[in-house]
Order: sequence, then structure tokens, then C-alpha cells
Amino acid sequence: MKILVINAGSSSHKAALFDTQVGAAPQWQAQLDWTAQPGQVSLTAQATDGRSHQTTLATADRTTGLRALLATLWSGPVQVIPNPAAIEAVGHRVVHGGDRHQASVRITPAVKATIRDLIPLAPAHNPANLEGIEVAASLLPQVPQVAVFDTAFHSAMPPAAAAYPGPHDWWTQGIRRYGFHGISHRYVAQRAATLMGQPLADLKLVTCHLGNGCSLAAVAAGHSIDTTMGFTPLEGLMMGSRSGSVDPGLILHLLRQGDLTVDQLDQMLNKASGLKGISGVSNDLRAVQAAADAGDGRAQRAIAMFLHSLRRHIGAMVASLGGLDALVFTAGIGENSAFVWRETCEPLGFLGIHLQSKLERCPEDQDIAAAASPVRVWVIHTREEWAIAQDCQAIVTGS
Ligand code: ADP
Repeated sequence: MKILVINAGSSSHKAALFDTQVGAAPQWQAQLDWTAQPGQVSLTAQATDGRSHQTTLATADRTTGLRALLATLWSGPVQVIPNPAAIEAVGHRVVHGGDRHQASVRITPAVKATIRDLIPLAPAHNPANLEGIEVAASLLPQVPQVAVFDTAFHSAMPPAAAAYPGPHDWWTQGIRRYGFHGISHRYVAQRAATLMGQPLADLKLVTCHLGNGCSLAAVAAGHSIDTTMGFTPLEGLMMGSRSGSVDPGLILHLLRQGDLTVDQLDQMLNKASGLKGISGVSNDLRAVQAAADAGDGRAQRAIAMFLHSLRRHIGAMVASLGGLDALVFTAGIGENSAFVWRETCEPLGFLGIHLQSKLERCPEDQDIAAAASPVRVWVIHTREEWAIAQDCQAIVTGS
């Protein structure tokens, strides 16, 4: 089945075309990025056979950009299908499904209305997701569309983990921990079970999604029972440019001082904190590490804080699980940084986590734990788009 996957974000879009009979390698992949130049978008597209295409479009409009991106599927230098009719289903990543969507769902007018209702909970993402749905529906009106939610995997978290200890009304108003990166946490948990040759139902896993945004999930019997992100993707671990958890009293203090608007505070916590805010160098761990290696004290502190935050939250997830069979690293940092694997795991030897002495990045998913380690440590390449395509196929075919 030919499935188009659209991951429409606030300032970048990703899309991929899969033939589910062929497997997890996409036949075509494309990206739009509005961040380089104001009023312009860079479009890149690649086909499996190595053909690629790069152009810049003079538009700030996300819909125009997405239409141009999708047109490269059936026309131009990276064309892979004869016409739009070759696409049999479209899967969309939707960031927030709230309490109402606890699993992937075929998109209907009612589902769109829910995604719209949830915009206050995800103001940067749900509007872009809806635009992606509208563009796909206008180009492919007969084709079924499926929404796959980033929050769904965490939706069965017990109230003890999901509720905030504020007034009870918060819970009834939907002010609770939702968690994010659920498509990735679910995929890597399932993949770890497959690679371990054990039923997911028998495993206790901590999955570490460490990219620009970072979160952990405590996965027991295939369900997320705790996670570090919360009502928004700002809670939890220190990240590339996000602070992660800080004392809420600190926010009150800053607001009381009166020097900052709410938008400035938002910008500070989301864009000028984390590795970037502490180091003053970058949100990219590689650049921060290079500065730290050259003796930059702030960069060294940023890395020490990032690792401390990661280890203390892993400890929290293990406590929620009451044990651990495997730790799983994924996303940009998690898939590539042997330094982070080592610095995270060595101090956690008391949990039964022991790494091999020689660690190297590898294009394949790999177990980096020592042979005798009671806890396995997996590095798994996340495949969120493929996970979306698989859900999409299951829903459209009713399987
Ligand atoms: P996003 O959350 O935007 O999808 P990614 O999962 O691609 O991000 O992760 C991006 C981050 O991964 C970069 O900011 C960078 O810090 C990190 N990264 C990528 N490769 C490496 C590497 N070899 N070593 C350390 N960090 C890396």
C-alpha cells in the first residue's frame, strides 16, 4: 500500500512516501524549512534511487510550501509516482490529541474539530497539523486520512502519574500531564522487544528520546506509565534550548518583578534556555561539546547539567517502573553520542546497567550493554514516519 506521511510543524515540515509491501525505507522523502531566511522556505526532496532536488521558494505561507513539496512526488526531478491517484492513504502526525484521542484514528470532520478544539493546548503545532490535513484533503479528496497523535501513547498513564498536585479543578479542566514524543517512544519500545526476542508485555523499559526536544518514558507491558514531558513539551529534562523543569515559584518571581511579558518569558524558557542558554554557544550538543573540549567553562557546565538532568530523570522512571530490563536511546543525541551513552550509564551501574568497553555509532540498531549486564542498553534509530505509515495501513485496511 502506498502511504504518504506528513509531519507538518510550525517552522518545518517533513513528508515521506512508503510502499508498505517494500518496508520501512521510504521511496521519497522531503522537507520544508522556513527558519533560514525570513519570507523564504527551502525545499529538499530525495528519491530512494539517489535523485535529489533542492530549491528555495519565496513564500512564508505553509500551505503554498506544502503544495509545492507534495507536487515533487508526481512531477519534476524526483518524481516517484505517475500522479496523485497512486497514493492510497495519508497519515498525519498530530501533536496533541488531548483526552479525546487515545489511539490513531481515521480523520473525519469530528476529528478535525477536536484537533481544532485542542489548539489552546498546542498553539504552535495543532494549527500546522490541521493545515497539513486540509492540503492533503484538497489534493487527494478521495483518499483516506489518518491522524497519529504524539500524546496517545501516554494516554493510559495512571492518574497518580498524570495529575498535577494543584487544585482538583485542574484535572477536570484537562490541566494534566499529557506527554509527547509518543510515536517515537512507542516505536522504539516495540523495536527493543523485537530485538530482545521477548514479548513487550513482559518488559520494563526506559526509552530516552534525546533530540532538540528530550523526553523519557517509563514503559511497562507496552504502555507508557510515566513520562518526563507534561502539559506542554517544556517539562522534564534539560533540552537543546528548553529549560525543562524549573521551580514554578521562579516563574512567579520573574513575573512579579514585572520586567518580562508572558511572550518574553515563553521565549526565554523555550528558546534561550537549556544547552543553548547555559553555554551561550548553541542548542546543538556537538557545538557545545567542541567548546567544552576547548576549555569553555560555560559549555562544560551545560553538558554536566544536561547529563545530571538525564540521570536523575532516568532514576525517576526506573522508580516508577519498579525495575528495569532495558534502557533505550534514540533521536539525534541518543542515536549518535557515545559520550552521552557512557556518561549516562557509567554512574548508573548500581541499577545493573553496564556498557561494553568499546562503543561506536552504527547505522544499525545495536545493544551496547556488556554481555554480563543484567540490564540491556539499546541504541535504536527512531522511525516515526514509518510508525505513522503502519498505523495508517492498519486503520485503513481494518486490520
Ligand atoms: P529534532 O528533535 O529536531 O528532531 P534530532 O532528533 O534530529 O532533532 O536531534 C538533533 C540533535 O541531535 C542536534 O541538536 C544535536 O545536538 C544532536 N546530535 C546529532 N548528531 C550528534 C552527534 N554525533 N553527537 C552528539 N549530538 C548529536
